[in-house]
Amino acid sequence: MGIRLVVALLSCLVGVLIEASAGDSHPRYQVCVEQCKETGCVKDKLAVDGPWYVQEPLYLQWDCQSNCRYHCMLKTENEREVLGTGPVKYHGKWPFKRVLGIQEPVSVAFSLLNLAMQFHGWLSFFILLYHKLPLRPQTRKPYYEYAGLWLMYGFLAMNSWVWSAVFHSRDVDLTEKLDYSSAVALLGYSLILAILRTFNVRDEAARVMVAAPLIAFVTTHILYLNLFKLDYGLNMIVCVAMGIAQLLLWVVWAGVTRHPSKWKLWAVVLATSLAMLLEIYDFPPYKGYVDAHALWHATTIPITYLWWSFIKDDAKFRTTDSVKKVK
Ligand SMILES: [Zn+2]
Repeated sequence: MGIRLVVALLSCLVGVLIEASAGDSHPRYQVCVEQCKETGCVKDKLAVDGPWYVQEPLYLQWDCQSNCRYHCMLKTENEREVLGTGPVKYHGKWPFKRVLGIQEPVSVAFSLLNLAMQFHGWLSFFILLYHKLPLRPQTRKPYYEYAGLWLMYGFLAMNSWVWSAVFHSRDVDLTEKLDYSSAVALLGYSLILAILRTFNVRDEAARVMVAAPLIAFVTTHILYLNLFKLDYGLNMIVCVAMGIAQLLLWVVWAGVTRHPSKWKLWAVVLATSLAMLLEIYDFPPYKGYVDAHALWHATTIPITYLWWSFIKDDAKFRTTDSVKKVK
């Protein structure tokens, strides 16, 4: 839960306002885009001056319409600045300045740092399990009963940060669906994991009984978003419900357990809640670069560190316990 759980939850929230926004309904902007499409596009691309390295990478090359929208947005925003009025949203998004063809460079950078942090957590957890803690003598497998589940969690978390970085580089239908789908998958999986760990479900059959209906539900929801309708409102309800459910599970469990590292759970939950304010009080990008969403991605980096630290403590704690019982 923790980190990526609410990260995913908020990825779900992002898309709520995608239809017409204040900026793009302004007549001056609309006229600009119309004119640009007729005069500004050379062979469906906007002419870019400068050496090859300031040209956009091929995979990020923008089509005529989005180039025109971008340039008219900057133009309209400059005019607004002269008039002393604050930034407004265009097509549901704040006016960001591109860097090397990347739409939201700061969010991309923080997504990649989150990815690195997840990898660090995942790898150090793996090393702890297989090289530091004792293994079961017969099978050479870890004593920790949740080892495989957490390793899979790390994989899904890394996957969703990859797509988050891609989505913030270039927001198109495909990248949006990949980002949303991987976030929902992670959120659903972390809910299963929260139930299994807090209720200490160790029996394989019982685990399947918990997981099967949730996997079926999450799969159906992802298929619905991709093949039928990317319904932001519905997706938000699903994400919030799954997010709050696991948050509550962990908080209640932290309240009753005698786990030595439960303070880390409290800290993660508290930090995540505070960080969530950044998503609720959405503010426009400072200097065209750093917006609330980018800062939110920054805050999840230390939270991720703390979360994996809890997971590793749990592995140590449970292993010590199991080894004692064996002896
Ligand atoms: Zn994001």
